[in-house]
Amino acid sequence: MILLAGGEGKRFGFKKQYLELKGKPIYMHSVEKVIDLFDEVILVLPKEDVEKVKVPSKVRKVGGGKERQNSVFEGLLCTEADVVVVHDCARPFASRELFLKVSELGEFEGKICAIPVRDTLKQVSEGMVVRTVDRTGLWHAQTPQGFLRKVLLECHLRARAEGFYATDDAMLLERYGYKVAVVMGELSNIKITFPEDLFLF
Ligand code: C5P
Repeated sequence: MILLAGGEGKRFGFKKQYLELKGKPIYMHSVEKVIDLFDEVILVLPKEDVEKVKVPSKVRKVGGGKERQNSVFEGLLCTEADVVVVHDCARPFASRELFLKVSELGEFEGKICAIPVRDTLKQVSEGMVVRTVDRTGLWHAQTPQGFLRKVLLECHLRARAEGFYATDDAMLLERYGYKVAVVMGELSNIKITFPEDLFLF
């Protein structure tokens, strides 16, 4: 299990993973949720914070990289598990059930959670509507996402060789021809990206 908390908070303004939410830092919500579910928990942190961040002894801390993808790669190098689940700590409300669902890969190389797009989608240019985009079949991808470790590592190595950066790990499997299954995500599994997102709580 790889938990990502290695971001610099570029869009948020500061490192949001350490912000207190309901009495504990945001990253700790995910740590506590998965600690009994998986044999191995790797927490990716900004390199400069690895020493000082306190975690339960079962959790292995590792320094991340410049982009999210680099941080996942650093986590991947620390595990030999057959199945690896990747989760953004910026989604502190994912349920334990969701982690279990995506870790049961069955016949697939990857399994993600996602929810159907609910709003009407507009393509906009310079403040003007260009057109309405057909939302049929469009889903919002979330984390956690589960993968066969060997497949995910192969995809990361290929992407690195090409200098290709994806916005999630499933996108790498898609790129290299692997099939990724989808299970229903959770509306409450929001990603804290901007300070405004925290007003919800
Ligand atoms: O910045 P954003 O919210 O898209 O990041 C998604 C997740 O990836 C966050 O949990 C963040 O901490 C993590 N991340 C990381 N290393 C980076 C950038 C982001 O672990 N270099």
